[in-house]
Amino acid sequence: MQQSCSIFPIRNGNEKIEYICITVRDVTEIVVYEHKLLDATRRDYLTGSFNRKYLEDKLREEFERHRRYGAPLCLIIFDIDNFKNVNDSCGHLYGDFVLREVVARVASGLRTTDILARYGGEEFCGILPETSLKSAIEVAERFRESIASEEYRFHGHSRKITISLGVAALDKNITNTDMFFKKADDALYTAKREGKNKVRSADH
Ligand code: GH3
Ligand code: MG
Ligand code: MG
Repeated sequence: MQQSCSIFPIRNGNEKIEYICITVRDVTEIVVYEHKLLDATRRDYLTGSFNRKYLEDKLREEFERHRRYGAPLCLIIFDIDNFKNVNDSCGHLYGDFVLREVVARVASGLRTTDILARYGGEEFCGILPETSLKSAIEVAERFRESIASEEYRFHGHSRKITISLGVAALDKNITNTDMFFKKADDALYTAKREGKNKVRSADH
């Protein structure tokens, strides 16, 4: 239970404090509502993943933590393959369904300390604190397999979906978060160029 407490004096006719009045209110509902509101400002409405603003704030935070303590930090950027064709052949509602399904599958494979956010359209980004490049590549490979193994059925449409992923680890040559994003994004574009449904990393 969340409580709000206020204390105020009660004076007699001579302006002397005679009593102290203490009121305690149950404000649990208000606090829960405030948390929900705050959470809503951080989320992408369609998929429930975090939004780009929250991603960028969190990445700056983790970047600073890495600088101070040297903890390993990895980024995974992924993009749904041929998504325009998914929309064109099965419709926008089916496309929306796929976006939600992909997020649910990927999110179920993340740790609670990891952050999954929608970077834009059908592109997502995962921040993996305390994770080596080798482990992040393994995580990305698991995501790729998990997405590709499913048949996505919705409103009479059914098809396979694949994603391409780029992985990057923070190192001393990366001096700001834009460079870090770019490194993961370059790896993603290598994965696209080399045929899609692949994991690629800048340092591998
Ligand atoms: P590639 O394999 O190279 O990534 O190609 P692609 O077709 O996935 O990429 P492209 O950038 O050509 O198309 C992305 C599509 O994603 C186009 C856009 O309409 C669709 N899209 C973006 N946001 C949403 C959304 O919220 N819902 C749906 N249904 N579609 C979306
Ligand atoms: Mg795409
Ligand atoms: Mg894209």
